[in-house]
Amino acid sequence: MSRAAGPILLALWLAACGSSAPPRPATYYDNGTLKAPAFSERTHKKRYQQAAAGVVKKRAVTWVDAGRPERLSPKAVGKLPMAALVAIHTASEMPKGVERDVLFMVDKKRRPVSIRVDVKGAITVEGGPAWYPDKERRDAGPIKPLLRGKWEDGMAGDLALAWDQVGEADRALLKGVTFHRVPGRHGTEGGKYIANEKGHRIEIYDATKDARERGFVGAPDQPQPRSLLTYYHEIGHGLSAFPRLEAVRRYNQTVKAANAGKPGAAKRLKALQKAVDQQQKHNPVLAAYQKTLGKAGAPTVYGATALEESFAEAYALFRGHPAALQRLRPATYKWFKGAGHRHAIQGALKGMPAAL
Ligand SMILES: [Zn+2]
Repeated sequence: MSRAAGPILLALWLAACGSSAPPRPATYYDNGTLKAPAFSERTHKKRYQQAAAGVVKKRAVTWVDAGRPERLSPKAVGKLPMAALVAIHTASEMPKGVERDVLFMVDKKRRPVSIRVDVKGAITVEGGPAWYPDKERRDAGPIKPLLRGKWEDGMAGDLALAWDQVGEADRALLKGVTFHRVPGRHGTEGGKYIANEKGHRIEIYDATKDARERGFVGAPDQPQPRSLLTYYHEIGHGLSAFPRLEAVRRYNQTVKAANAGKPGAAKRLKALQKAVDQQQKHNPVLAAYQKTLGKAGAPTVYGATALEESFAEAYALFRGHPAALQRLRPATYKWFKGAGHRHAIQGALKGMPAAL
Protein backbone atom coordinates (compact mmCIF):
# COMPACT_ATOMS: atom_id res chain seq x y z
CA MET A 1 0.00 0.00 0.00
CA SER A 2 1.40 3.38 -0.88
CA ARG A 3 0.92 6.57 1.02
CA ALA A 4 0.70 10.12 -0.19
CA ALA A 5 3.95 12.04 0.25
CA GLY A 6 3.78 13.52 3.72
CA PRO A 7 5.69 16.79 3.63
CA ILE A 8 4.03 18.13 0.49
CA LEU A 9 0.48 17.41 1.63
CA LEU A 10 1.14 18.32 5.21
CA ALA A 11 -1.78 20.29 6.54
CA LEU A 12 -1.18 22.88 9.17
CA TRP A 13 -1.87 21.51 12.55
CA LEU A 14 -5.00 22.97 14.04
CA ALA A 15 -5.54 23.40 17.75
CA ALA A 16 -8.11 20.86 18.85
CA CYS A 17 -11.29 22.50 19.93
CA GLY A 18 -13.63 20.57 22.18
CA SER A 19 -17.21 21.46 22.94
CA SER A 20 -18.67 21.43 26.41
CA ALA A 21 -22.14 21.99 27.77
CA PRO A 22 -21.94 24.98 30.16
CA PRO A 23 -21.50 28.46 28.65
CA ARG A 24 -17.88 29.48 28.26
CA PRO A 25 -16.61 32.37 30.34
CA ALA A 26 -15.67 35.42 28.23
CA THR A 27 -12.03 35.12 29.29
CA TYR A 28 -10.42 32.00 30.68
CA TYR A 29 -7.34 29.81 31.05
CA ASP A 30 -7.50 26.75 28.82
CA ASN A 31 -6.05 23.90 30.89
CA GLY A 32 -6.77 21.15 28.39
CA THR A 33 -3.70 19.36 27.09
CA LEU A 34 -3.05 19.38 23.37
CA LYS A 35 -1.95 16.23 21.65
CA ALA A 36 0.32 18.18 19.34
CA PRO A 37 2.28 16.30 16.68
CA ALA A 38 6.09 16.31 16.76
CA PHE A 39 7.64 19.04 14.63
CA SER A 40 10.96 19.28 12.88
CA GLU A 41 12.66 22.47 11.72
CA ARG A 42 13.74 20.88 8.47
CA THR A 43 10.34 19.55 7.46
CA HIS A 44 7.92 22.08 8.85
CA LYS A 45 9.62 25.43 9.27
CA LYS A 46 8.89 26.99 5.90
CA ARG A 47 5.23 26.13 6.03
CA TYR A 48 4.80 27.56 9.52
CA GLN A 49 6.82 30.68 8.65
CA GLN A 50 4.33 31.40 5.91
CA ALA A 51 1.40 30.74 8.22
CA ALA A 52 2.82 32.93 10.99
CA ALA A 53 3.59 35.75 8.54
CA GLY A 54 -0.03 35.57 7.39
CA VAL A 55 -1.23 35.93 10.99
CA VAL A 56 1.14 38.84 11.70
CA LYS A 57 -0.20 40.71 8.65
CA LYS A 58 -3.73 40.57 10.05
CA ARG A 59 -3.28 40.76 13.80
CA ALA A 60 -1.10 42.33 16.47
CA VAL A 61 1.43 39.68 17.50
CA THR A 62 4.01 40.10 20.27
CA TRP A 63 6.83 37.62 20.81
CA VAL A 64 8.38 37.54 24.28
CA ASP A 65 11.85 36.03 24.44
CA ALA A 66 13.70 35.88 27.78
CA GLY A 67 11.27 38.44 29.20
CA ARG A 68 11.73 40.92 26.33
CA PRO A 69 8.55 41.65 24.35
CA GLU A 70 8.79 42.49 20.65
CA ARG A 71 5.90 43.48 18.41
CA LEU A 72 6.42 41.43 15.26
CA SER A 73 6.44 42.58 11.66
CA PRO A 74 5.87 39.97 8.92
CA LYS A 75 9.58 40.26 8.12
CA ALA A 76 10.64 39.54 11.72
CA VAL A 77 8.90 36.15 11.54
CA GLY A 78 11.94 34.77 9.68
CA LYS A 79 14.10 34.75 12.82
CA LEU A 80 11.58 33.05 15.13
CA PRO A 81 12.20 29.56 16.49
CA MET A 82 9.92 26.76 15.32
CA ALA A 83 7.95 26.57 18.58
CA ALA A 84 7.05 30.27 18.33
CA LEU A 85 5.84 29.81 14.75
CA VAL A 86 3.60 26.89 15.69
CA ALA A 87 2.36 28.85 18.71
CA ILE A 88 1.40 31.85 16.54
CA HIS A 89 -0.55 29.56 14.27
CA THR A 90 -2.22 27.90 17.29
CA ALA A 91 -3.11 31.32 18.70
CA SER A 92 -4.81 32.30 15.44
CA GLU A 93 -7.21 29.36 15.95
CA MET A 94 -7.96 30.17 19.60
CA PRO A 95 -10.96 32.19 20.76
CA LYS A 96 -10.40 35.75 22.00
CA GLY A 97 -9.77 36.18 25.72
CA VAL A 98 -8.07 32.81 26.20
CA GLU A 99 -4.62 31.81 27.37
CA ARG A 100 -2.90 28.47 27.55
CA ASP A 101 0.49 26.86 28.12
CA VAL A 102 1.61 24.40 25.46
CA LEU A 103 4.60 22.09 25.32
CA PHE A 104 5.59 21.68 21.68
CA MET A 105 7.88 18.85 20.64
CA VAL A 106 10.43 20.23 18.18
CA ASP A 107 13.26 18.01 16.97
CA LYS A 108 12.77 15.76 20.00
CA LYS A 109 13.00 18.60 22.48
CA ARG A 110 10.04 19.86 24.48
CA ARG A 111 9.59 23.62 24.13
CA PRO A 112 7.31 25.43 26.59
CA VAL A 113 5.30 28.30 25.13
CA SER A 114 2.62 30.44 26.76
CA ILE A 115 0.00 31.66 24.33
CA ARG A 116 -2.33 34.55 25.15
CA VAL A 117 -5.07 36.06 23.00
CA ASP A 118 -6.62 39.17 24.50
CA VAL A 119 -10.28 40.15 24.17
CA LYS A 120 -9.48 42.25 21.08
CA GLY A 121 -7.63 39.39 19.43
CA ALA A 122 -4.06 40.61 19.96
CA ILE A 123 -1.67 37.67 20.34
CA THR A 124 1.22 37.30 22.78
CA VAL A 125 3.52 34.31 22.54
CA GLU A 126 6.19 33.73 25.16
CA GLY A 127 8.80 31.00 24.89
CA GLY A 128 11.24 29.35 27.26
CA PRO A 129 14.23 27.03 26.97
CA ALA A 130 13.85 23.29 26.33
CA TRP A 131 12.38 21.48 29.33
CA TYR A 132 11.02 18.10 30.36
CA PRO A 133 9.05 17.08 33.48
CA ASP A 134 11.98 15.29 35.15
CA LYS A 135 14.53 17.99 34.48
CA GLU A 136 14.78 18.65 38.21
CA ARG A 137 14.75 15.51 40.32
CA ARG A 138 12.37 16.06 43.18
CA ASP A 139 12.60 14.41 46.54
CA ALA A 140 9.32 12.65 47.35
CA GLY A 141 10.45 12.05 50.95
CA PRO A 142 8.28 14.64 52.74
CA ILE A 143 5.06 13.42 51.09
CA LYS A 144 5.73 9.68 51.47
CA PRO A 145 3.79 9.18 54.74
CA LEU A 146 0.66 10.52 52.99
CA LEU A 147 0.94 8.27 49.92
CA ARG A 148 -1.19 5.17 49.35
CA GLY A 149 -0.94 2.80 46.39
CA LYS A 150 1.88 2.50 43.87
CA TRP A 151 3.16 5.94 42.93
CA GLU A 152 5.53 6.41 39.99
CA ASP A 153 8.69 8.24 41.16
CA GLY A 154 8.12 11.30 38.98
CA MET A 155 4.47 11.59 40.02
CA ALA A 156 5.32 11.36 43.72
CA GLY A 157 8.01 14.01 43.21
CA ASP A 158 5.51 16.36 41.53
CA LEU A 159 3.03 15.86 44.36
CA ALA A 160 5.76 16.62 46.91
CA LEU A 161 6.45 19.86 45.01
CA ALA A 162 2.75 20.79 44.97
CA TRP A 163 2.39 19.96 48.68
CA ASP A 164 5.39 22.14 49.44
CA GLN A 165 4.12 25.03 47.33
CA VAL A 166 0.64 25.23 48.86
CA GLY A 167 2.32 26.39 52.07
CA GLU A 168 2.01 25.47 55.71
CA ALA A 169 -1.23 27.34 56.47
CA ASP A 170 -3.18 25.55 53.71
CA ARG A 171 -1.56 22.20 54.50
CA ALA A 172 -2.78 22.51 58.09
CA LEU A 173 -6.37 22.72 56.81
CA LEU A 174 -5.89 19.45 54.88
CA LYS A 175 -4.90 17.61 58.06
CA GLY A 176 -5.35 13.85 57.83
CA VAL A 177 -5.57 13.77 54.02
CA THR A 178 -4.02 10.86 52.11
CA PHE A 179 -3.16 10.67 48.41
CA HIS A 180 -4.17 7.47 46.64
CA ARG A 181 -2.69 6.55 43.28
CA VAL A 182 -5.58 4.71 41.64
CA PRO A 183 -4.47 3.24 38.30
CA GLY A 184 -6.76 3.32 35.27
CA ARG A 185 -9.00 5.79 33.54
CA HIS A 186 -11.95 7.54 35.06
CA GLY A 187 -13.15 9.32 31.95
CA THR A 188 -11.16 12.53 31.58
CA GLU A 189 -10.92 13.04 35.34
CA GLY A 190 -7.43 13.56 36.70
CA GLY A 191 -8.42 12.97 40.28
CA LYS A 192 -11.10 13.20 42.92
CA TYR A 193 -11.45 14.60 46.43
CA ILE A 194 -13.53 12.31 48.62
CA ALA A 195 -14.71 13.13 52.13
CA ASN A 196 -16.84 10.98 54.40
CA GLU A 197 -17.36 10.43 58.13
CA LYS A 198 -14.06 8.54 58.33
CA GLY A 199 -11.95 11.36 56.92
CA HIS A 200 -10.84 12.55 53.51
CA ARG A 201 -8.61 11.41 50.68
CA ILE A 202 -7.52 12.42 47.20
CA GLU A 203 -7.47 9.87 44.39
CA ILE A 204 -5.20 10.41 41.40
CA TYR A 205 -5.91 8.71 38.05
CA ASP A 206 -3.94 8.05 34.86
CA ALA A 207 -5.14 11.25 33.13
CA THR A 208 -2.85 13.16 35.51
CA LYS A 209 0.08 11.06 34.31
CA ASP A 210 -0.80 11.87 30.68
CA ALA A 211 -1.00 15.58 31.50
CA ARG A 212 2.45 15.34 33.04
CA GLU A 213 3.94 14.07 29.78
CA ARG A 214 2.10 16.47 27.51
CA GLY A 215 2.13 19.80 29.19
CA PHE A 216 3.54 22.35 31.55
CA VAL A 217 2.13 25.17 33.64
CA GLY A 218 3.47 28.53 34.73
CA ALA A 219 5.91 30.97 33.18
CA PRO A 220 7.70 29.31 30.23
CA ASP A 221 11.10 30.26 31.63
CA GLN A 222 10.17 28.53 34.91
CA PRO A 223 7.92 25.69 33.76
CA GLN A 224 6.42 23.15 36.15
CA PRO A 225 4.65 19.87 35.38
CA ARG A 226 1.06 20.28 34.20
CA SER A 227 -0.02 17.57 36.65
CA LEU A 228 0.44 20.09 39.48
CA LEU A 229 -2.84 21.70 38.43
CA THR A 230 -4.68 18.48 39.35
CA TYR A 231 -3.06 18.30 42.79
CA TYR A 232 -3.86 21.95 43.51
CA HIS A 233 -7.43 21.49 42.23
CA GLU A 234 -8.13 18.56 44.56
CA ILE A 235 -6.45 20.33 47.48
CA GLY A 236 -8.72 23.29 46.69
CA HIS A 237 -11.75 21.01 47.16
CA GLY A 238 -10.33 20.03 50.54
CA LEU A 239 -10.06 23.69 51.54
CA SER A 240 -13.61 24.63 50.59
CA ALA A 241 -14.90 21.49 52.35
CA PHE A 242 -13.11 22.35 55.60
CA PRO A 243 -15.94 24.10 57.54
CA ARG A 244 -18.38 21.27 56.80
CA LEU A 245 -15.83 18.58 57.70
CA GLU A 246 -14.99 20.41 60.90
CA ALA A 247 -18.68 20.56 61.88
CA VAL A 248 -18.98 16.80 61.23
CA ARG A 249 -15.81 16.12 63.21
CA ARG A 250 -17.14 18.10 66.21
CA TYR A 251 -20.49 16.33 65.96
CA ASN A 252 -18.85 12.89 65.94
CA GLN A 253 -16.67 13.76 68.88
CA THR A 254 -19.73 14.91 70.83
CA VAL A 255 -21.53 11.64 70.01
CA LYS A 256 -18.78 9.89 71.96
CA ALA A 257 -19.32 12.29 74.88
CA ALA A 258 -23.07 11.60 74.76
CA ASN A 259 -22.45 7.85 74.79
CA ALA A 260 -20.20 8.28 77.80
CA GLY A 261 -23.09 10.01 79.59
CA LYS A 262 -21.51 13.49 79.69
CA PRO A 263 -24.02 16.10 80.88
CA GLY A 264 -25.20 18.60 78.28
CA ALA A 265 -24.18 16.36 75.38
CA ALA A 266 -27.68 15.99 73.94
CA LYS A 267 -28.14 19.76 73.72
CA ARG A 268 -24.70 20.25 72.14
CA LEU A 269 -25.41 17.51 69.62
CA LYS A 270 -28.53 19.33 68.51
CA ALA A 271 -26.58 22.57 68.04
CA LEU A 272 -23.85 20.77 66.09
CA GLN A 273 -26.39 18.99 63.90
CA LYS A 274 -27.67 22.45 63.01
CA ALA A 275 -24.13 23.60 62.22
CA VAL A 276 -23.59 20.60 59.89
CA ASP A 277 -26.87 21.32 58.08
CA GLN A 278 -25.98 24.98 57.78
CA GLN A 279 -22.57 24.24 56.24
CA GLN A 280 -24.21 21.79 53.87
CA LYS A 281 -26.67 24.44 52.66
CA HIS A 282 -24.36 27.41 52.55
CA ASN A 283 -20.61 27.18 52.03
CA PRO A 284 -19.08 30.45 53.31
CA VAL A 285 -15.77 29.85 51.51
CA LEU A 286 -17.47 29.43 48.13
CA ALA A 287 -19.76 32.40 48.80
CA ALA A 288 -16.80 34.69 49.60
CA TYR A 289 -14.96 33.39 46.53
CA GLN A 290 -17.91 34.00 44.23
CA LYS A 291 -17.99 37.66 45.20
CA THR A 292 -14.44 38.11 43.90
CA LEU A 293 -15.48 36.93 40.42
CA GLY A 294 -18.07 39.64 39.85
CA LYS A 295 -19.66 39.03 36.46
CA ALA A 296 -16.55 37.36 35.03
CA GLY A 297 -17.45 33.80 36.06
CA ALA A 298 -15.10 30.84 36.44
CA PRO A 299 -11.49 31.20 35.23
CA THR A 300 -11.67 27.95 33.20
CA VAL A 301 -14.32 26.22 31.10
CA TYR A 302 -14.53 23.27 33.50
CA GLY A 303 -14.91 25.68 36.39
CA ALA A 304 -18.18 26.88 34.84
CA THR A 305 -19.82 23.52 35.65
CA ALA A 306 -20.26 24.27 39.40
CA LEU A 307 -19.20 26.86 41.96
CA GLU A 308 -17.05 24.37 43.88
CA GLU A 309 -15.28 23.43 40.63
CA SER A 310 -14.79 27.12 39.86
CA PHE A 311 -13.13 27.58 43.27
CA ALA A 312 -10.90 24.52 42.79
CA GLU A 313 -9.84 25.73 39.33
CA ALA A 314 -9.10 29.25 40.58
CA TYR A 315 -7.09 27.87 43.48
CA ALA A 316 -5.14 25.62 41.07
CA LEU A 317 -4.27 28.65 38.93
CA PHE A 318 -3.37 30.72 41.98
CA ARG A 319 -0.84 28.08 43.00
CA GLY A 320 0.22 26.82 39.55
CA HIS A 321 0.13 29.95 37.41
CA PRO A 322 -0.48 33.03 39.56
CA ALA A 323 0.39 35.44 36.74
CA ALA A 324 -2.39 33.95 34.60
CA LEU A 325 -4.96 34.30 37.40
CA GLN A 326 -3.79 37.87 38.00
CA ARG A 327 -4.35 38.71 34.33
CA LEU A 328 -7.67 36.88 34.01
CA ARG A 329 -9.30 37.47 37.44
CA PRO A 330 -7.33 40.21 39.25
CA ALA A 331 -9.80 40.50 42.17
CA THR A 332 -9.76 36.74 42.76
CA TYR A 333 -5.97 36.70 42.64
CA LYS A 334 -5.86 39.48 45.24
CA TRP A 335 -8.32 37.59 47.45
CA PHE A 336 -6.21 34.42 47.49
CA LYS A 337 -3.02 36.44 47.90
CA GLY A 338 -4.53 38.08 50.99
CA ALA A 339 -5.51 34.61 52.34
CA GLY A 340 -9.22 35.36 51.68
CA HIS A 341 -9.99 31.63 51.58
CA ARG A 342 -8.49 31.09 55.04
CA HIS A 343 -10.26 34.14 56.46
CA ALA A 344 -13.58 32.75 55.18
CA ILE A 345 -12.82 29.43 56.90
CA GLN A 346 -11.97 31.17 60.18
CA GLY A 347 -15.20 33.17 59.91
CA ALA A 348 -17.22 29.96 59.53
CA LEU A 349 -15.57 28.48 62.63
CA LYS A 350 -16.39 31.50 64.79
CA GLY A 351 -20.09 30.74 65.08
CA MET A 352 -19.65 26.96 65.29
CA PRO A 353 -20.35 25.29 68.67
CA ALA A 354 -17.34 23.51 70.16
CA ALA A 355 -17.27 19.74 70.55
CA LEU A 356 -17.97 18.36 73.98
ZN1 LIG B 1 -13.14 19.10 41.01
